[in-house]
Amino acid sequence: MTVELICVGTELLLGNIVNTNAAFISEKCAMLGLSMYYQSVIGDNQQRLQELLHTAIKRSSVIILSGGLGPTQDDLTKETAAKVVGRKLVEDLRARKEIEAFMAKRACTVTENNWKQALVPEGSRVLYNQNGTAPGIIMEEGETRIILLPGPPNELVPMFEEQVFPYLHQLQPETICSKMVKLCGIGESSAETKIIDLIETQTNPTVAPYAKTGEVHLRITAKADNEEMAYDLIRPVEEKLQRRFGDLIYTNDPDVTLEDAVYQLLRQCQLTVTTAESCTGGLVAGRLVNVPGISEFLQQGYITYSNEAKEKLLHVPAETLKQFGAVSPQTAEAMAKGGAEAAKADICIAITGIAGPGGGTEEKPVGLVYMSCYCKGKLYTERNQYSGSRSKVREYAVASALTLLRRAIMEYMREVDADGCES
Ligand code: ATP
Ligand code: MG
Repeated sequence: MTVELICVGTELLLGNIVNTNAAFISEKCAMLGLSMYYQSVIGDNQQRLQELLHTAIKRSSVIILSGGLGPTQDDLTKETAAKVVGRKLVEDLRARKEIEAFMAKRACTVTENNWKQALVPEGSRVLYNQNGTAPGIIMEEGETRIILLPGPPNELVPMFEEQVFPYLHQLQPETICSKMVKLCGIGESSAETKIIDLIETQTNPTVAPYAKTGEVHLRITAKADNEEMAYDLIRPVEEKLQRRFGDLIYTNDPDVTLEDAVYQLLRQCQLTVTTAESCTGGLVAGRLVNVPGISEFLQQGYITYSNEAKEKLLHVPAETLKQFGAVSPQTAEAMAKGGAEAAKADICIAITGIAGPGGGTEEKPVGLVYMSCYCKGKLYTERNQYSGSRSKVREYAVASALTLLRRAIMEYMREVDADGCES
């Protein structure tokens, strides 16, 4: 069973609106285990739509169209689809009544062209619309199914969830389920190398790595008759990944971010944190502030861009700056220690580097970033070298800083054992 999607609308071609219907429908079809090989966007043009439909019918078993079901002249999806399969348009009484009721409720007068929306191709199944006037349509034409849906997402989404999803589900009893394992502190190629045997021999479930800035996400996907059986297939692979990556996994929950994971550790250990940022200019603090509830553990942060600010706010010795430079492990450590003391926090994460594009030297090139995390009397210091634009370097530095912060808290947890931190 293959499905094909056609989104109709000149405004989509012009880039005036983002094709959110495509993202929504694709995700749902993937969940249902339907293979989608083709997607098209086409303008409000009858001849081109006709040609595309002929092609789609030849190569796909289910064709979903979105848009162009409205009352106006340029809405011609229904007329075109009916013409392609050789069906007449006939009035659907219930659709007519619902249009009347819908308009009356909103105190709108029904114009002549509104009745056009009550016309449906003969012999089709009508999907009544709770949120608008244009009904959706399912046409079964031999082995081919053509599904027409209204363009506005507030109409399409509920219609799909309530009527189309169950319809497709009974056509395709298999379900696809997936789980996400999120890693930090490892690059995509190293992550892939560690599981290359799983990737190369996989059929069901499959494991696919996705590179994110400073993170790698592994998606495990399984196909089975039902959800429970799919998760039964996923579980042993998830356990294998757990054994191979251990602490590099910060969550198995698709909704949990790296800063959420850091927050959970702070909470578990009841540790306060502060930030001392040079080249990231507050981005690390910003990521932490994404988490509701962080105010209990983060009272303040520092943006210390100049040497003077580093001396004044973080008490970095002038001598350290002079001898080693602002971008050095010594300065990063002095910032971390000084920041924790100044804010009276248990932890301070400090970042200093050269974001570029200027300012690099042979010894200290653009993209060189030192970071240090002071955590309860201990220092964890790292040298990182990134490539890319100024904003990329800063984004990577933020992800590494959160990763280092997480590592420092986990080391602390190991030291104090279960006593100090409730697990
Ligand atoms: P209407 O009755 O409103 O005319 P329609 O079914 O004819 O609905 P269109 O005219 O194609 O649909 O689109 C109406 C509106 O719906 C667009 O202006 C746009 O805001 C939204 N829309 C249409 N297609 C999409 C899409 N693929 N993704 C997101 N939004 C869309
Ligand atoms: Mg329209």
